[in-house]
This record gives sequence, C-alpha cells and structure tokens, in this order.
Amino acid sequence: MNTENSQTVRSLVKVKNVTKYFPVRSGVFRRTTGNVKAVDGVDLDVFYGETLGLVGESGCGKSTLGRAMMYLDPPTSGSIEYEGNSIADMDRRARKQLRRKIQIMFQDPFSSLNPRMPIGETISEGLIVHKIGGVKDRKGLVMEMLAKVGLHENHIIRYPHEFSGGQRQRIGIARALVTDPSFLVCDEPVSALDVSIQSQILNLLTELKEEFQLTYLFISHDLSVVEHISDRVAVMYLGKIVEIGDRKSIFENPKHPYTLALMSAAPIADPRKKREIILLEGDVPSPIDPPTGCSFHPRCPIAEEICEQVTPELITIDGMTGQRAACHLVPGVEAGAEL
Ligand code: SF4
Repeated sequence: MNTENSQTVRSLVKVKNVTKYFPVRSGVFRRTTGNVKAVDGVDLDVFYGETLGLVGESGCGKSTLGRAMMYLDPPTSGSIEYEGNSIADMDRRARKQLRRKIQIMFQDPFSSLNPRMPIGETISEGLIVHKIGGVKDRKGLVMEMLAKVGLHENHIIRYPHEFSGGQRQRIGIARALVTDPSFLVCDEPVSALDVSIQSQILNLLTELKEEFQLTYLFISHDLSVVEHISDRVAVMYLGKIVEIGDRKSIFENPKHPYTLALMSAAPIADPRKKREIILLEGDVPSPIDPPTGCSFHPRCPIAEEICEQVTPELITIDGMTGQRAACHLVPGVEAGAEL
C-alpha cells in the first residue's frame, strides 16, 4: 500500500478539522453546561484500497469518529468528503447512494440483528431499501453472499439465536457487503470473539477486501489485531489523532510518547524479544474539560513547560513513510526539506 506522501495515493474519505461534541445538560431547565469533546479537531485521509487501523484506549473517540465519518452521527463542525464531495452538501438522493456505498460492521452483531427475522430477510433489507434487483434476484444475491462469507444457503431461514458468535459476525459481513459498498467501517468487529474465531474473521475480511475492492476503517483497541490487518495506523488520544503512519513505522518505530506507551504493552509474538513496559500514571482526563496544551501532558513521562501551554500540531516526522506525530519534543521534517 502506498503511503501518504506518495503522489499516486488518493483519498476515498477525507476528514477535515472534524469535531463531535455531545452537550452536557444539568439543572431543572436542562441547560447546556458543557460539552463532551469526543472528537476534537481531526484531520484524516482514508486512501482507496487501504485498511486504516484506528487505535486508542476505550473512550478516546475512535467509534464516534467512525460514526461521524459515515454521517450516522454528523459532526458538530468540520467537513467529511467522500470521493471529493462534501457529504454535508449532498442532496437526499446523493446521501441515499452514499448509504449504499458506506457500510458498518459492529462489535456485537447479535444486538444489531432482529431476533424475529430470518437472516435471509435481514441480509436482503439493504437490497430492498436501495431497490437493488427483483424478488428472485435478491434471493440469489443473498445466497451468493452467504456462500462468500462461509455460510450455507439453508441458513437463509434460520434466526440469529441459532448461530454462534463467529457465524453472526459472518452474517454482519454479508449484510454489510450485499449492497456492494466501497468503504466499510469495522467497529471492533472481532473483540467479542474467541481468538481462534478472530483469525478466521480477519482472514475472511482480508479475502473479501480484495474480491470486492474495499477500503476499510478498522477500529480496535487490540493492537495485535490492528497489526495483523492494517496498512496504516492512526493513534487517537482524547479525541485527537496523535500519531499516524504505515504499520511498520507505528509498530516498530513509534515516536509519540503515547504511542510508545501503547506499543510497550502490546504482546510480542517472539518470546525471545523483550520490551520495556512504559506504565502511564493517572487516568485518562475527562473529555468535558481536557487539559490545556497537549492533552497528554498530565500523563506524559517527558512533558516540559511548553506542553501545558501550546497544543502540538500533527507534523511530518518522516517524509518517506508519511509518519506524522503531534508532539513538541519529536523533531519534524522542515517544510520544503529535501527528502
Ligand atoms: Fe508529551 Fe509534550 Fe509531546 Fe505532549 S507534546 S506528548 S506532553 S512531550
């Protein structure tokens, strides 16, 4: 996969300075007394054909960002472009087309499947909504999709409770792909599964990505899963992207102190290799009242005075790989420098 600095790479989805705030109300009159700043000024590109991993601790805003990118929860400010067109400016028809092209897979497919509906009907819902094919065609498409995700055509008349967790996730994939999307947001899709089943689902997602020429945003707190599947990785902390780069750079040569701490706690496949674990002190601060300057400064082991006062920009630190980090103490590449 090409990296961000390559001239040939194009963005399928472009996120520009996006925020997503949720109002906090209190008192008898339920007045807004603050905002939960779940996503706080994110710029991000998802390139055609890549899998972009989005990692961070629970509550860092990664799922909110994924939903905002799909316009399931439109952003509070900023813009999101799909194939160069602003979603906010699209008319109803274009938005409906977009719904077909952007799909989501959830962590727990069981709660998103109607328990009273046979899975054949569940999978064909998207075809009906988007008026794809006639009744016979739809049945054929559903059968085809079941086969592609490793289920049997007899399963079409069965109900969600008759399937295992892994099979239900396969149903979730079939439902997401039956409308022939281009972009799939995978929100912790294997977190609830046993490790042996996880790898089957990850391999299936990899195969289907090639076959359907898909682009993935893969949201997970599990670093080994993200390392397995991603081309590039973005690291989020308290609503902001603090580091982004290709998989090798982020896992083997992380620069931001938060990424370093995250990676130090990740398991290593080779038992001969050892890593010094960096323990972060304190809890993640409240997104209602995030710290000034660099929001990581209360927990950062190398913070200096400037960190409390000035918010660091996400700057390029390696022009060859496109690795960028938001940290005052990581040297960046000078704009216009020869690479
Ligand atoms: Fe740590 Fe300062 Fe860098 Fe933030 S800007 S990560 S506080 S060194």
